Amino acid sequence: MSKDGVLYIVATPIGNLDDLSVRALNTLKSVDLIAAEDTRHSKRLMNHFGIDTKLIAYHDHSSEQKSAQLIERLAAGEKIALISDAGTPLINDPGYRIVSEARELGLTVVPVPGPSAPITALSASGLPTDSFAFVGFVPAKSHARKQFFERHGAAAHTLVCFESPHRVLASIEEAVEVLGGERKAVLARELTKTFETFLGGTLGDIHAALMADGNQCRGEMVLMISPAEKEQCVLEIDEPTEQMLMALCDELPPKKAASLVSQFSGVPKKLLYQRAVELKS
Ligand code: SAM
Repeated sequence: MSKDGVLYIVATPIGNLDDLSVRALNTLKSVDLIAAEDTRHSKRLMNHFGIDTKLIAYHDHSSEQKSAQLIERLAAGEKIALISDAGTPLINDPGYRIVSEARELGLTVVPVPGPSAPITALSASGLPTDSFAFVGFVPAKSHARKQFFERHGAAAHTLVCFESPHRVLASIEEAVEVLGGERKAVLARELTKTFETFLGGTLGDIHAALMADGNQCRGEMVLMISPAEKEQCVLEIDEPTEQMLMALCDELPPKKAASLVSQFSGVPKKLLYQRAVELKS
């Protein structure tokens, strides 16, 4: 296996083409091949910047044979850039399979960072950024959506998710129903594009803005919801923590087991002790 092969994960603009970095441009010009989510879509970027590197289609539904061919080319010493339609590949976009395979084989994978909608939205939202969770798209079905807001809305960090234009109104209505109209939130639309808009304030304010102007439901969007107030936070023992607690409860008294697990997991000792007593009984 050649040591020269490199898989570059190249971020591309999410709207404004000027956001392509100089390093991304040089990488796309110099590699042997660009593997793109949709070659027709990426042609616009290529033409705009005069990049004439060969493009091939690659996404997570591409055949195993196609992944294998790319891996073979990397192993033979070629340099390949992976791009998605917009933003950072793998962030809710294709690429996971080839990156994990390349890593498992010890091939070199190099990120070329740049735009990504969730981080772009969060950075200008005015919501807390010290701790946040990006959870992909809000579910499409109403029941799942309500569960989603119940679960994620109780967390002590800012929630960042994608929403689609035809579901955003229903989604905001349900978020208001589950979390209340007073919860702070921001809907960032059409980032870096002509009609970039940040609708902010509370979930109730966003709902009112969408009802007042149908255009606010259009385009690409990121929904961000502020953390729950302290008393609303639900403290949970996740699956791996519970398993660790169960294993230690077989060997140790509940108090000792809870204390050890608390050190590793950060979950309060008291909560773990209550669970440990339940498990023992
Ligand atoms: N990998 C991409 C990234 O790093 O930004 C995200 C891809 S994801 C399939 C596409 C979703 O990202 C869109 O449906 C929208 O919710 C969000 N998005 C992408 N571009 C956006 C933009 N310019 N403004 C707001 N949201 C955007």
